[in-house]
Amino acid sequence: MFQLNGKTALVTGTSGGLGRAMAEGLAAAGASIIGISSSGSASMVESIRSQGGQAEQISADLSRVNDLDSLFNKAVHVYGRIDILVNNAGIIRRTPAADHAMEDWNDVIQLNLNAVFRLCQLAGRHMIERGSGKIINIASMLSFQGGINVPGYTASKHGVTGLTKAFANEWAGSGIQVNAIAPGYMETNNTAPILADQKRYQSITERIPAGRWGKPEDLQGPVVFLASSASDYVNGHVLSVDGGWLAR
Ligand code: NAD
Repeated sequence: MFQLNGKTALVTGTSGGLGRAMAEGLAAAGASIIGISSSGSASMVESIRSQGGQAEQISADLSRVNDLDSLFNKAVHVYGRIDILVNNAGIIRRTPAADHAMEDWNDVIQLNLNAVFRLCQLAGRHMIERGSGKIINIASMLSFQGGINVPGYTASKHGVTGLTKAFANEWAGSGIQVNAIAPGYMETNNTAPILADQKRYQSITERIPAGRWGKPEDLQGPVVFLASSASDYVNGHVLSVDGGWLAR
């Protein structure tokens, strides 16, 4: 029930970090991958093909929301259909709330929320026609908590969980499951400034019950679960993959 043979997954933000690892996890379960990211996904494609899997990449700026219709059509044409969408691409801008620039707010909302809304909508229409599909949005601990210096990011990730539930309600009856994964603190470019600050890194690590930060590979099992028939009766759920951070 965890096999994805014959399925096609569109994954955004696959140049590295969590997106690349999730694409590789889905490919290992049998899915053909189309990766979209602004900076190219050549290493993801190479590593999947070297394991005997199928992967293609499209380079595009997802914050150009008006281009998403043609971009989605291009992605559909690669293998003829999209069975799984993973909305992973995201950015973060760190400045104290009192000084947070509107430009930073707008850039973050544009990619993390507006593009996610539009891609869910486009994929949902495509999946409704086929009577099945899986959409997995990448949320955050800041879908539940306020964070420090990242008000735009926090608002966008609270929005992602709201959107996930809104789409899940409307499309559950059409055979489409829309869910989210909320990663805890994971070692990627997104968290590089925290990783570089030994004091902050240490204090966060001490608060994680598992005693360590997450690695991108920690998301592979959860994303395969939510992309496969194993989760056919799971709708609108936000699955925390956080080493126990929220339970503490
Ligand atoms: P990352 O910076 O390593 O990867 C971000 C990806 O998004 C890259 O592939 C990048 O090319 C792509 N991207 C950025 N802007 C883009 C644009 N305009 N158009 C197309 N692609 C674009 O970060 P990551 O940690 O792998 O983050 C992936 C997702 O996970 C994000 O949504 C992030 O908010 C979320 N997340 C990360 C953590 C963490 O601790 N690292 C925790 C919770 C949630």
